[in-house]
Amino acid sequence: MRLNLDGDRARSRGAKTNLHPFAEHDAGTLISGPGGELEVPVADRRLIAAFQNGFAAVAKGSRWSPQVKAILDRAFRAELDLHRIIETDSETILAIYEQFADASSSRQELRGEIERQRDLRRIIAQAAAENASDIHFKTFPGYCEVRMRVHGRLRPLTHRSAEDGIALINAAFAVASDQGSAASPTAFMKGALSRSSGLLPSGVDLARLQYSPASGHRPFLVMRLKYSTASLETELGELGYRPRQLQDLALMRRRTSGLYLLAGKVSSGKTTTLQRLLNAMVEEKSHEISIMAIEEPVELDVAGAVHVAIVARSGMTREQEFVEAVKATLRSDPNVVVIGELRDRELASHAIEFAMTGHALWSTVHAGSALGILDRLNDLGIEGWKLADPTIVKGLVYQRLVGLLCGRCKIPFLQAVKNNQLSHELMEKVTRLTGKSPASLFVRGGGCEHCRSGFTGRTVVAETVLPDPRLLDLYARGDRMAARQHWLAARSEQGLGGSPVLHHALINVGLGFCDINEIEEEVDLVSTYERDFPIQAHALPQDIISAEAMT
Ligand SMILES: [Zn+2]
Repeated sequence: MRLNLDGDRARSRGAKTNLHPFAEHDAGTLISGPGGELEVPVADRRLIAAFQNGFAAVAKGSRWSPQVKAILDRAFRAELDLHRIIETDSETILAIYEQFADASSSRQELRGEIERQRDLRRIIAQAAAENASDIHFKTFPGYCEVRMRVHGRLRPLTHRSAEDGIALINAAFAVASDQGSAASPTAFMKGALSRSSGLLPSGVDLARLQYSPASGHRPFLVMRLKYSTASLETELGELGYRPRQLQDLALMRRRTSGLYLLAGKVSSGKTTTLQRLLNAMVEEKSHEISIMAIEEPVELDVAGAVHVAIVARSGMTREQEFVEAVKATLRSDPNVVVIGELRDRELASHAIEFAMTGHALWSTVHAGSALGILDRLNDLGIEGWKLADPTIVKGLVYQRLVGLLCGRCKIPFLQAVKNNQLSHELMEKVTRLTGKSPASLFVRGGGCEHCRSGFTGRTVVAETVLPDPRLLDLYARGDRMAARQHWLAARSEQGLGGSPVLHHALINVGLGFCDINEIEEEVDLVSTYERDFPIQAHALPQDIISAEAMT
């Protein structure tokens, strides 16, 4: 029996090279089926299917769920060596049971569940085709009414028997994230269907589920659809990247080989950026690339990417297990590999080797600036001649997240100086640098009913570097200052026309979006800005005007 773990979904997207390398192996007997050595209860069968040859398919996002952990523990105690764990969607896993399971009763139950998921997918697709914002599933004695909200108005979509309606609601929650159990008739519940649920048509990113028992314990589910934004550039742009940086990121993801690294401190939004970059890459390359991600815990949600799980083995440390997974992945010749973080020398050296053999590798590192990533690679033991090779290190990104000021309670500079929230000196300096009047510059307010914290969200401030041979050569010779100057020099001066993260942050301050006090804490002090970045400081007022024109 040969398995195709990507199932019909991937094929219909035209994913020609998306097959997991292990999926072509002869899988042998299903041990998690009825009567098998590792029989899994019917309710958990959408989560995992295990085979005698050590191969197991686990539902995306469920690798660390209590149910899967318990089953893997049981396998371990029974000395069943599940050493090849692959993540896929639950529909594919149920299809495996349908193909392999013998007991007819559980077969019927499974077929029922597959049928319900198909039905649900059809309903969502129908509503999405009309651009509906919500789908309502409302049960009454005897029937379930399904309606959709289009342009603010509720319209009938279809109806089912009450029993089927409740089954549909349960089927939605069965594959929803953060929601292990079926909807109970008495509790309010929330959940979300992501792309990996297999239930969303293309163009829909997410469906939020809000379940309420309603009156008389009649289940009522509202499903809110979140559509993908028209352009992928916009999706990345929404994070706060500037147009020039978006161009750099577009160039990076178009390339088919080399090392691409994102840096930033913990919770600086690196994973979100990486996820959007990879989704854009998959779309742009018409799903004809194979992406394998090795991370722990699994955070990326990328359509068509295969997550390689880290498998516990006796006598090995977690680090060794991680490296084993990386080595196995690199040998299986994917186009793009994502490693959660390059945190030690061994991982870094494998990553470089991989990039040297004509593949693309994306990862994150701890570094305090985009060029600082080169220092970090140096610390991780990468030899200078490798760092100097322009065919290896091809993209460096550094980002921070800073607060977006609430428009309703933000405080103008002059008022802030009176309140002792801002020094007079800093006000003068920022006013002069940005060319803006102090009435159009703000600091964070004390919070209002609209925001509570003075901020309404966070935005990326970043710097991107596409290293050229000269920059890498200067760096490899140990002349970091010259390398930095070359990055910052204007293109008309044969430089790279780079722009530091502080410049990006000051544009946001000039636009009235960010608080200069937070920028000084989170990014850098303004006092040395003109000295360190004279070209950028000179361009700041004009850059703010250009950015204003775009917002
Ligand atoms: Zn506010």
